[in-house]
Amino acid sequence: MHVVVCGGGVIGAATAFYLTELGVEVTLVERRELAAAASGKAGGFLARDWCDGNSMGPLARASFDLHAELADRLDADYGYRRVDTLMVVGADEGSVARYALHPASGWLDGNCAVNGRIGTPETTAQVEPGAFTRALVDAACRGGGARVRIGAVEGLLAAGGARGAVAGVVVDGDHVAADAVVLAMGPWTALARAWLPLPPIGGLKGFSITLRPDFEVPAEMLFCEYRTASGEVLSPEIYPRPDGEVWVCGMSDDQPVPIDPADVRVDDARCDELQRIAGTLATGLGDAEITRRQACYRPICADAMPLLGPAPGGRAGIYVATGHNCWGILNAPASGKAMAELVATGEARCVDLASFDPARLLEAAA
Ligand SMILES: Cc1cc2nc3c(=O)[nH]c(=O)nc-3n(C[C@H](O)[C@H](O)[C@H](O)COP(=O)(O)OP(=O)(O)OC[C@H]3O[C@@H](n4cnc5c(N)ncnc54)[C@H](O)[C@@H]3O)c2cc1C
Repeated sequence: MHVVVCGGGVIGAATAFYLTELGVEVTLVERRELAAAASGKAGGFLARDWCDGNSMGPLARASFDLHAELADRLDADYGYRRVDTLMVVGADEGSVARYALHPASGWLDGNCAVNGRIGTPETTAQVEPGAFTRALVDAACRGGGARVRIGAVEGLLAAGGARGAVAGVVVDGDHVAADAVVLAMGPWTALARAWLPLPPIGGLKGFSITLRPDFEVPAEMLFCEYRTASGEVLSPEIYPRPDGEVWVCGMSDDQPVPIDPADVRVDDARCDELQRIAGTLATGLGDAEITRRQACYRPICADAMPLLGPAPGGRAGIYVATGHNCWGILNAPASGKAMAELVATGEARCVDLASFDPARLLEAAA
């Protein structure tokens, strides 16, 4: 069996990895480079139980455990570690000391108060998401089961007419034959709405920076509530990484997803504001070197839940895996494993995908 996986983000990479584990031959088609979009720019925070209470709960728990397993199995250092996670209050003006419920460690020396311990090493972890994505693909390719093709997927090939079973994809004008196709192009999976009945898939933009401070930062992930001088309340997140860098996010804009992932625009002023806020909370971050200014889109559907399953429309051999919103890095392992099982054997066994059926949103809209 030969499967074309479209999209070299974390969801395509995990699907390709687990397909090769089942002995399936895979071609992973990526328009730009592996982890070119959100999967290379996200925070990489992982939580065992933060999705409990909605249908993603079991997917997240299974994925959290698979992350631990993969960190042992994949022959790569992509910064996996267990972490502490803190709720932090900060402000431009006026002391926030009255919000302190826990002592802060030394690096949190600005106008900052720790008012919750919301994750422990038992429940929270992190990876560097781009390196994790590439490690999955490297492992898939190492055994000879997968290959990567750089090119843009432009359409589907059908056996027996336009509504027949899939026969492959068109990549930069070339025909690539396949027994099955998995559409995992993040927000760009929306392009396939020209080829198939698919529900709307959007992208929500977020800016982030990485800083390289000249001191060692403990493994404390920060979820912050921050009041600016103008009264705006922001929710920055600050994740120190084991390689010494510190990732910071918390600003967005409403620019639509560009057709080409290479055209995502970065706004220097928003990135500078992220560093200013980080420096107000932890003064050592205020003058640290900015190593990356970046922006990316998280893929999102109407109910903010993933699309995982056969493409609607009844054409055999076409599958969709996207819409992971703010939890794609966390949920990639079980999503990829379940999709691989579904494609290769006809049944997802590691998690129940029923509530992620892509048809649910078409039926809801009808
Ligand atoms: C600021 C921010 C922080 C985040 N932090 C976290 C976090 O801490 N933890 C977490 O779990 N999740 C986080 N997320 C969410 C996570 O990043 C996404 O859910 C996840 O990366 C989506 O992965 P994907 O593979 O579906 O899509 P993408 O990463 O968007 O990958 C899609 C790929 O498809 C390629 N492509 C596009 N068009 C084509 C085409 N025509 N042909 C071939 N390839 C194509 C693109 O180049 C891209 O590489 C964050 C998201 C954002 C925006």
